[in-house]
Amino acid sequence: MSAAPDLTLSCTVNDRMLRIDCPFCGLRDHSEFTYGGDASVEYPALDASADLWHDAVFQRENIDGVQFETWQHLQGCRMWIIVERDTRTHAIHSVRAAHDGMQAVLKKPKDPQ
Ligand SMILES: [Zn+2]
Repeated sequence: MSAAPDLTLSCTVNDRMLRIDCPFCGLRDHSEFTYGGDASVEYPALDASADLWHDAVFQRENIDGVQFETWQHLQGCRMWIIVERDTRTHAIHSVRAAHDGMQAVLKKPKDPQ
């Protein structure tokens, strides 16, 4: 009989904290954020069938690699952001505002004062 595999190591981040660079507040610990889900989901029209809504809300890919996720900086600016994160390593490749209008404001050059 073989021993059960030690799964505890796969549940840690090697003593590193996952930190998210909020476009509004700067680099913060992930504990300030709330995970919102897969950012690639396209929701159906409000009057779409229950089956379409069921699939949009409950059917998710379990991606082993890079995915786009929504997070809310709940203990900070409360803004929703899109995080491009590798689910295997937790490496974050990009962060941007979830709302295109807010992202456009962030990219706009600041007026000299
Ligand atoms: Zn923030």
